[in-house]
Amino acid sequence: MKLNFSASEILFQQQIQDFITAHFPPTAPYAHSRADEQRWAAVLNAQGWAAYQWPRQFGGTGWDMTQKYIWERATAMAGVPARLGGMGMFMLAPILYTFGSEAQQSRFLPGILDNSINWCQGYSEPGAGSDLASIRTRAVRDDAHYIVNGSKTWTSYAHQADWIFCLVRTEALERKQDGISFLLIDMRTPGISVQPIVTIEGKHSSLNSVFFDAVRVPIENRIGDEGCGWRYAKGLLTHERTGLAYVADSIRRLQRLRRIAAQTPAGLTTLLHDADFARKLAEVEIDLLGLEITELRTLAEAASGAAPSAQSSILKLKGSLVLQRITELFVECAGLQALPYNLDGLNARDSLEADRFRTEISTYLYARSASIAGGTNEVQRNIIAKRVLQLP
Ligand SMILES: Cc1cc2nc3c(=O)[nH]c(=O)nc-3n(C[C@H](O)[C@H](O)[C@H](O)COP(=O)(O)OP(=O)(O)OC[C@H]3O[C@@H](n4cnc5c(N)ncnc54)[C@H](O)[C@@H]3O)c2cc1C
Repeated sequence: MKLNFSASEILFQQQIQDFITAHFPPTAPYAHSRADEQRWAAVLNAQGWAAYQWPRQFGGTGWDMTQKYIWERATAMAGVPARLGGMGMFMLAPILYTFGSEAQQSRFLPGILDNSINWCQGYSEPGAGSDLASIRTRAVRDDAHYIVNGSKTWTSYAHQADWIFCLVRTEALERKQDGISFLLIDMRTPGISVQPIVTIEGKHSSLNSVFFDAVRVPIENRIGDEGCGWRYAKGLLTHERTGLAYVADSIRRLQRLRRIAAQTPAGLTTLLHDADFARKLAEVEIDLLGLEITELRTLAEAASGAAPSAQSSILKLKGSLVLQRITELFVECAGLQALPYNLDGLNARDSLEADRFRTEISTYLYARSASIAGGTNEVQRNIIAKRVLQLP
């Protein structure tokens, strides 16, 4: 198995690095303001790299898996605003250009590409998270429309979204994965209401409940065939093989943790040289190194054309644990300074850098969700047990 980059990939890596340094100097702040994100989005659009994951014919770069990996790694290491375009760019667009009609592609992809339309993902429901196929939100045909009734929960950024892509039940069949359809719904349609969910951070940052009360959705807003939505939604998840493990993000966080620990007094020395803290730091660094190798191994297998494996579950499981552990060490490093918690400050994104620990505390709390969102760690362990370890 080849874990090293080829000469052309190394050249590509250098070009990417030069581009990032030219447009996003290393002195840029760790936390970004909205203005930083908008500036970066304009730079990427001008370069044609905003939709770096998409095929060329839809306005993307046409990069192969290794090139995408190099890009994701370089941007994360440089700390530039990541994953601009959110759920529309990364989750809906692949479904649109793989399964959508030409009319749907030309109607919806441009708004995702130029970031003018915000999308949210309406999959989970009360009682249907890990067991997603148990969704109960109903869509019943009425001539040229579906009438949608039900609710979605944990819907990230629904309060800011223009549209929502939803899994809905169009038929109740014996196999619950059957009879699910994939609908695109304009959030301004009468009958939709959004309620904020206040999270462990003590504020409403991203999560919401969305309620549908006799919402009329034109039939042309259904992706693909009626009853086949499960296939469209799930099929693409198996292709998301890298970037699951937050490796570059964790490397960058660890570098910062080391810098802060080196400035934090501990007895006659600094925290970085305190035996107990140094051991914890070393443990997480070893885990991260193992994770990085696993990610490269997954990439090498995928690049050689191997079928998707359950390895992504290992990346998701270990990646979330490493990330959470690093955020715990930041809290340990902050010590008593971890206690003050400024909610107003948390909402003022432009002044994040003012308090070096405030972001770490909110990150620590928010990182608890890394082992839940996108498939819980218990579910990943089940997958690893069955499909990797072949346990009965
Ligand atoms: C920050 C965040 C953002 C999210 N954003 C979105 C979004 O934008 N759109 C969206 O649709 N959803 C979103 N979700 C929802 C997310 O997909 C679900 O939370 C996740 O799938 C788990 O479902 P659940 O919360 O219903 O928990 P449950 O499935 O009810 O699980 C509860 C507990 O039981 C365990 N469990 C469940 N089944 C098994 C099993 N078979 N074996 C062993 N243990 C099991 C779980 O691991 C967990 O500990 C988000 C969640 C979070 C935390």
